[in-house]
Amino acid sequence: MPARSFLPYGHQWIFDDDIEAVISVLRSEWITQGPLIERFERAVAERCGARYAVAMSSGTAALHAACFAAGIRAGDEVITTPLSFVATANCALYQRGTPVFADVRPDTLTIDVKAIADKISRKTKAIIPMDYAGHPCDFDAILVLAKRQGLTVIEDAAHALGAVYRGRPVGALSDMTVFSFHPVKLLTTGEGGMVLTNSDHFYGRLRVFRTHGITRQAEQYQDEDQGPWYYEMQELGYNYRITDFQCGLGLSQLQKLDRFLARRQHIAARYTAAFSDVSEITLPVTLPQCESAWHLYIIRLNLERLRVGRGQIFMALRSQDIGVNVHYIPIPWHPHYRRLGYQKGQWPVAEAAYEGMLSLPIWPGMANDDVDRTVDAVRSVLAEYRK
Ligand SMILES: *Cc1c(COP(=O)(O)O)cnc(C)c1O
Repeated sequence: MPARSFLPYGHQWIFDDDIEAVISVLRSEWITQGPLIERFERAVAERCGARYAVAMSSGTAALHAACFAAGIRAGDEVITTPLSFVATANCALYQRGTPVFADVRPDTLTIDVKAIADKISRKTKAIIPMDYAGHPCDFDAILVLAKRQGLTVIEDAAHALGAVYRGRPVGALSDMTVFSFHPVKLLTTGEGGMVLTNSDHFYGRLRVFRTHGITRQAEQYQDEDQGPWYYEMQELGYNYRITDFQCGLGLSQLQKLDRFLARRQHIAARYTAAFSDVSEITLPVTLPQCESAWHLYIIRLNLERLRVGRGQIFMALRSQDIGVNVHYIPIPWHPHYRRLGYQKGQWPVAEAAYEGMLSLPIWPGMANDDVDRTVDAVRSVLAEYRK
């Protein structure tokens, strides 16, 4: 029997032509700020049906830029989900805004629109919904609410490149949509991210923020143009640029996105079929109006049917080299947020879901044998610990 290897929960899938694409950029004149950045931006915008895209050095940088573009500043409140990676809320802190956490729906674990409505105050400026595990949020209701209240919607779609909501691709739904191209995400540039928007105003702000807040367009100068060397730094921006060789990789990966998505869908369906008779777990659901990008496949343990907690199930699966993981520790539970005054116990749905959740390995390059090995391990561990 071949040696078993550790199966991570997510992994990039790089092909020879992806590698060639990077090498050819490295041999060219431009390795950063060259022509491929715009080509990659146009290709992703086109794929998602958005007018504009601005590529950044990471998804986190892209979220920060979106908060800047939305005009978030000290005193502004931003409503978001407690059940996400910390970057989803940190971007508001970077702009000295205040994240306000609204609880999630019990089925999809995406932000609950009723909970958002309850949290809106005179200080609310934006909503940051996150497409948890690749499943789109309730955008019809979120966008109606946002419009009525004059709020900007910044969609954290780090999990959801390729997902579909009511026949429309994620990327063309919200005021700004943010993607991540970290290796575990739907496609990779190593590190990288992007903001999509249909707004000329946001597009201009995103671009200027990416390069130190500097403009070289004379018609935008606030002082007199002093000559051909002249430029103006009009805002405090950052260096959030991505490189051309990363965008070469991204363009090459983008050609495989449909194949990646189909493969994720297949693996999810294989898990769902294999676990349909296992009463110790609740399986992820997809609402009829949605297609998930299946970034994660998250099962929830029905702890009242088990003799042990999530920790022991986690360890038993890890000891079989199944790289289960937990997405996510509620953001306001982290010490930095506790120091800011957030307290546990205010998001009962998210916090209860956290206690039982486990992410199973899912990535396009994973073999069916690895899916089956995961199924067998999960079934046998649950059988061992059932009441
Ligand atoms: C990965 C991720 C991010 C951050 O993206 P990076 O490219 O790693 O900076 C933000 N939000 C969510 C939900 C993520 O999963």
